[in-house]
Amino acid sequence: MDVEPVTIPEAAATVVNAMTIDVEDYFHVSVFDGLVPRDRWADLESRVSDNTDRLLRIFDDAGVTATFFVLGCVAERVPSVVERIAAMGHEVASHGYAHRLIYDQAPSAFRQDVRRSKDLLEALTGRPVDGFRAPSYSITPRTLWALDVLIGEGFTYDASIFPIRHDRYGIPSSPRHPYVLTRAEGSIVEAPASTIRVGSTNLPIAGGGYFRILPYGWTRWGIARLNRLEGQPAIFYLHPWELDPGQPRLEAGLVSRFRHYYHLGKTEGRLRRLLRDFRFSNLRSVLAASQARSAAPSMTPLPYLW
Ligand SMILES: [Zn+2]
Repeated sequence: MDVEPVTIPEAAATVVNAMTIDVEDYFHVSVFDGLVPRDRWADLESRVSDNTDRLLRIFDDAGVTATFFVLGCVAERVPSVVERIAAMGHEVASHGYAHRLIYDQAPSAFRQDVRRSKDLLEALTGRPVDGFRAPSYSITPRTLWALDVLIGEGFTYDASIFPIRHDRYGIPSSPRHPYVLTRAEGSIVEAPASTIRVGSTNLPIAGGGYFRILPYGWTRWGIARLNRLEGQPAIFYLHPWELDPGQPRLEAGLVSRFRHYYHLGKTEGRLRRLLRDFRFSNLRSVLAASQARSAAPSMTPLPYLW
């Protein structure tokens, strides 16, 4: 299904896109919620360390740094993987501690969860953790209070609001490019996963199942269009388990199995190709470059007090 490469337009080649990885094991994934009780996670074979090492090799080969949103319980079980990510010059950010969807938690429980992950990651790396991504993009219209918690806990950016319609996440009316969100507690930069606007609909073009399941040409077309026509960086995301065709199979429903297992063997080749076709760096530096272009209307604080 992959299409042949064509020349990337010159304008697209000048935009640096953000490469982000949500560091979790195959059994942490939200589509498997309830299948494996949390108190049994420790009994399952962990493959996140080896799979993350594969990503580190791929990025090293391409000369690219990325942002790794690490799950706190992964940092606790295999701290060495966090140390390797940091030692290779990548940004370490937080994916929370226990991979609980935000709308399944009270604000006080969410605060404890993010604080625990931030403390763990900062102790391991000796560096501040500035960024957060919620499990399954679970900052939605009913969990905007989570942004106040993140501001209060010292995060400077969030990457949890997906501006699409989806059964589990999304705020379809939210901005498609990085922007400053003003809340009662202060302000925070929001870095949405990338979409293309077609008619009145936002379509996801940059990562996860959309990268794995759809033909590579979809992602490539979408990022080129974003870079060339809108002059904006793509924010791309992937998980270490998406490069692991050998992972143990869990007995989920048909749709969940399709979303999780389809094309696992194709991801590495596609990712290497993506890194040849476009420029990438970590999210913190991409956001800093966006803010430096302060005239850009997308970074002007929005009059939102959601
Ligand atoms: Zn996750």
